[in-house]
Amino acid sequence: MGFEVRFEYSDDMKAFAITAPMQSAVEDVQEPIAGDGEVVIDVSRVGICGTDQEYFTGEMVYLHTGKAGYPMRIGHEWCGTVSAIGNGVDKKWLGQRVTGDTMLGCGTCYRCTSGRQHVCESRSEVGISHGFAGALAEKFLIPARALHALPDSIDDAMGAMVEPGGNSLRASQAALAGPGRNILIWGTGTIGLLAALFAQAAGANVYLIGRNEQTIALAKKIGIKNTSKQIPQLPTGFDAVIDATNDPDIPALAVSTVEPGGRIVYIGIAGEASYVDSRVITLADVTVIGILSGSPGLAGTIEMYASGKVDPRPLIAATISMQQVGDIFLGKRPAGAGDGPKIHIDPRI
Ligand SMILES: [Zn+2]
Ligand SMILES: [Zn+2]
Repeated sequence: MGFEVRFEYSDDMKAFAITAPMQSAVEDVQEPIAGDGEVVIDVSRVGICGTDQEYFTGEMVYLHTGKAGYPMRIGHEWCGTVSAIGNGVDKKWLGQRVTGDTMLGCGTCYRCTSGRQHVCESRSEVGISHGFAGALAEKFLIPARALHALPDSIDDAMGAMVEPGGNSLRASQAALAGPGRNILIWGTGTIGLLAALFAQAAGANVYLIGRNEQTIALAKKIGIKNTSKQIPQLPTGFDAVIDATNDPDIPALAVSTVEPGGRIVYIGIAGEASYVDSRVITLADVTVIGILSGSPGLAGTIEMYASGKVDPRPLIAATISMQQVGDIFLGKRPAGAGDGPKIHIDPRI
């Protein structure tokens, strides 16, 4: 009497971690408990991408600048259901299927208060920086302010494709994709393919360039008819060029390919510097745009997927368990995998 003893406890759950370069494990960790403004997500699907692969190999630049370190809990392309909420979180989120923003700005600096929280200097990135545990687990924590509700018309596979979709939609919009516009896109990875689908859905004439026979064939199969290994010759030239590769030579090639007065969108990042002669840009009156994140494109992507105008699911080659992820990073393709560039994980299997 007179005092209360309160036991905080939680069960264990499974989470995937990259423990050192070229090493990973599925670990038993404590289930998260939602703090103020946070929610717990029961994760239903997670995508892995090039950034995750770079954490596995040890190449990711944040490992060398101190923004990240091992062990890494990855996973920034995800969907799931809100299973618990912390203090101050609207009850409407409980039980809601959601995906969320990777970028978590501080909320108070000039960039955050002027609508650019995705480039906040002191932001955390879910599953990417500052030890913010990612979604590749049975459950994970995220601030409620980062959530986006998913309608029933978006299934789990599509839900985990919203984050790469946000990047690609922004690239398509930056290229001013619209009826009659000729848009050249370099790269048949997830971002290039999705950008092509968004640009076509907007009415643009899309010309896609790839190196990989398998993804070139996939692009044609999903309706991007003008996909090839070479730059096509058009009498009118290209109104916009999108670089969605990691090839350091493409940025300069894009500048020499676009029509004067046109637009260039850089969304791919090479492992080394890509040099462009700014005089060529000036003399051709070209607009150049860089895109870092999907954040401002997430809501628009959800709308496009829900409307059925873009279906990202053919890009998913396989859906595997957390136990199989290490093999994927070591370059083994799962048995029965399709032609798509994207691998999904269901943490419940
Ligand atoms: Zn990604
Ligand atoms: Zn900020």
